[in-house]
Amino acid sequence: FASKLPHVGTNIFSVMSQMAQQHGAINLSQGFPDFPVSTELIDRIHHYMKAGFNQYAPMPGVPALREALAAKMNRQYGTALQADAHITITAGATEAIFSTITTLVNRGDEVIIIEPSYDCYAPAIALCGAKSVHIPLQFPELSVDWQKVEAAITERTKLIIVNSPHNPTGAIISAEDMQVLSDLVLRHKLWVLSDEVYEHIIFDGNEHQSVLRYPELAERSVAVYSFGKTFHATGWKVGYTVAPEVLTREIRKVHQFVTFSVNTPLQYALADYLANPKHYEALPSFYQAKRDRFLELVAPSRFKALPSSGTYFQLLSFEAISQEPDTEMAIRLTKEFGIASIPVSVFYHHPTDHHVLRFCFAKSEETLQKAAEVLCKI
Ligand code: PMP
Ligand code: GLN
Repeated sequence: FASKLPHVGTNIFSVMSQMAQQHGAINLSQGFPDFPVSTELIDRIHHYMKAGFNQYAPMPGVPALREALAAKMNRQYGTALQADAHITITAGATEAIFSTITTLVNRGDEVIIIEPSYDCYAPAIALCGAKSVHIPLQFPELSVDWQKVEAAITERTKLIIVNSPHNPTGAIISAEDMQVLSDLVLRHKLWVLSDEVYEHIIFDGNEHQSVLRYPELAERSVAVYSFGKTFHATGWKVGYTVAPEVLTREIRKVHQFVTFSVNTPLQYALADYLANPKHYEALPSFYQAKRDRFLELVAPSRFKALPSSGTYFQLLSFEAISQEPDTEMAIRLTKEFGIASIPVSVFYHHPTDHHVLRFCFAKSEETLQKAAEVLCKI
């Protein structure tokens, strides 16, 4: 039978993490923290499991969690979100993205993606029988060329996917970018999928520019989030969509048959934990300190850091060290030097190699020191 995804192999995160394990390398490739989840949060999960909250959750998510999220976002973004009308709990942001794309995109449609891009957008678009149109982020400024985006819009363009703070580059979208995006979307009647999983991991006093802050844009947008990033628990796979009511209804039809519902005790525990804003407000300074520490530690090396304004990723250029393809450099670094990273070229549709690697700095001081010690010897 014909593969629906003939060009898709095992994803780079699995490949590099496995290679790191095989060679005993320090794993700064796949994005996940190496420090523990809050014991208070874990205690809440135990509490709900022991209290018998172990059967199916309601299909759109536990009401207490959706209420807590509505209250949090209404404070944060000045919105008037309602739990029932706008918020759906999903199996991580990955399901949120898949269900949203499946809801909005038809055979023959075109979807604009800014590249380098996170890896789960294009396959979901392909499974809908649609075409992804990839517009490169300007390099090394890491800014969006909106003229190029507008030039790529055709009658078939249905959706544009944006991601800020941006994986893999750490770039962020500015308020001016949002005005231009809003104008484009309204004029061309497009939909927006806004991947905001790193909403709380943003540095240097910048404010996260959620699509939800812009009422007209929000009417045409689905914003997706993940507790994995915010609470240091990437293995829990709980996320959510925020969408206008008409779209929420349709997204739930898909969600209902992709997963039906999501882990019950975790949802109750997360609802409790969200009640205290301290549990996420410290995140920007926590990760900014990690970024700054990593930059300080690698400063004496021959790697050159690009600006990282958000996420827990730092791009390092190895142009002063070697001209080899970034994929080969990443393999060599893992096997010969014991540091695993992610080659950024794999996030491009058009073959592009800027000789940069992505390093995850969501790591303990000890891990960062050990990694930097090796990087400084290369
Ligand atoms: N979008 C981006 C930009 C991500 O970095 C990730 C996680 N690496 C996801 C979506 C998926 O999130 P989750 O693990 O909650 O499915
Ligand atoms: N989002 C994580 C990263 O960018 C990996 C997620 C995955 O392994 N699928 O590294």
